[in-house]
Amino acid sequence: MNVPHDMHESSSNRRRILQAAAAGGVALVAGCAAPQAPMVAKAAPELMPKGSKRRVVVLGGGWGGLTVSRYLRQTAPDLEVVMLERNPIFWSCPLSNKWLVDVVDTQFLVHSYTDAARRAGYTYVQTEVTEVDRDKRRVHTAQGTIDYDWLVVSAGIRVSYEPWFGNDRAAISHTVRQYSSAYVPSAEHLALKQKIKSFKGGTIVMTLPPPPHRCPPSPYERACLMAAHFQRNKVPAKIIILDPKPRIAPIGPGYKQVFEDLYPDIITHVPNAGVQSLDPFARVVKTAAGEFRFDDAIFMGHHQAADLVWKLGAIGRTAEGKPTNWAAVHPQFYNLKDDPQVFVIGDSVGAVSPQFGHYPKSGHVANRMGRSVAQYIAQQSKGQAPTPVLIDNLCYMLVNLDPLEAISVQFDYKMGPEGHLLQTQIDDNDRSRKLWEEDLRWYGLAVQDMTSG
Ligand SMILES: Cc1cc2nc3c(=O)[nH]c(=O)nc-3n(C[C@H](O)[C@H](O)[C@H](O)COP(=O)(O)OP(=O)(O)OC[C@H]3O[C@@H](n4cnc5c(N)ncnc54)[C@H](O)[C@@H]3O)c2cc1C
Repeated sequence: MNVPHDMHESSSNRRRILQAAAAGGVALVAGCAAPQAPMVAKAAPELMPKGSKRRVVVLGGGWGGLTVSRYLRQTAPDLEVVMLERNPIFWSCPLSNKWLVDVVDTQFLVHSYTDAARRAGYTYVQTEVTEVDRDKRRVHTAQGTIDYDWLVVSAGIRVSYEPWFGNDRAAISHTVRQYSSAYVPSAEHLALKQKIKSFKGGTIVMTLPPPPHRCPPSPYERACLMAAHFQRNKVPAKIIILDPKPRIAPIGPGYKQVFEDLYPDIITHVPNAGVQSLDPFARVVKTAAGEFRFDDAIFMGHHQAADLVWKLGAIGRTAEGKPTNWAAVHPQFYNLKDDPQVFVIGDSVGAVSPQFGHYPKSGHVANRMGRSVAQYIAQQSKGQAPTPVLIDNLCYMLVNLDPLEAISVQFDYKMGPEGHLLQTQIDDNDRSRKLWEEDLRWYGLAVQDMTSG
């Protein structure tokens, strides 16, 4: 929706006054005795007064945020680093499909923010970030404001059900409650695990979001692991994957072989099956490839840049002026076009190349972007021009439980002669135990990279 500038200003001012009221305890109670003097909203309290050091504020403590915070302490020890994150503990989406079927335990996925921050020497504050005032270089949080010299936003994605339901809040909340996808670090993962464990039989449909979306190979991995779990426990289940794409991708041949060899009676993959309408109460979904009734479901709504990126005013526009739903940033430096000191990294980043569009939305990529931005900020802080870093991507997907076997995909990038990034993709379609062992090693090293001192 296109909001006129003055209207946006006044509504955001109104929001700020309400936030100030909530934080500062200003009385806004209707129906009380007439006040003696006109009410004046107090300014929001300061979360952390600024000292003599220049400050980097990092919004989001996921894969990108943890990495940039930790690396900044090494590349720019003279800067103060503060990471703001709503959750009290880090929860990894990578490896969470394996956790759903007990291949790894909870200790594997969760990590202490407090310990990571203490080891590396930055400050972690558990708080909800509510607004960013780019003119004042100020972040508003549930606990007060904090000023920055550099800002890094790694807030992940938001899942939008509006393209299916418009403003039908009952349908949206029923879908979120009953059929949520567990694609962001949240309690949805616990609900999904419970659903899989207690499923007694019948048809589960799983919709994939239209691309681009978070971790493209992971929905197929989830289907494989659920199928393996049902097979092992003799649950008479069918899983129907409704895929808006014309074919499985990435690692298409590898997944196709796995579906045929290991789960022929359980998994059905339906291509070109973008959702046209969904009735979550009557349990029927209509797609371009037909109508499907279901006993249970995992509905992956459309993925978009996180709310904070919208609040930042950093969403790109198409040639027709419509929002792209993703952040418009420099393809290699990840800063906003009008501000070299404000960066968006991780899954929120929009198209970066005419050849391949978006970088894969993966933890590996968010980690590489975090490392790169730590270097760029260090260089800027010393008055140097930043030198661009080429990143890479690597993802392993577990497809079999007996024995444990995985497939994988790797992406490399280089700068083409015309000044556009070019991508090379290498799929490893042959499932093997070796790739599963590499996956475990990859995860261990990544966590160490994000959380050590
Ligand atoms: C099932 C599944 C399997 C996956 N497997 C892999 C894999 O094998 N390999 C791989 O590389 N990637 C994998 N991924 C993808 C990976 O999880 C994401 O690409 C990665 O987490 C992106 O990092 P990010 O920093 O952009 O976002 P996130 O890691 O999601 O971090 C964003 C953080 O911002 C916080 N936040 C957001 N808004 C606010 C706010 N207003 N106030 C305070 N805090 C806020 C959130 O709480 C969150 O902690 C998988 C994803 C899923 C769902």
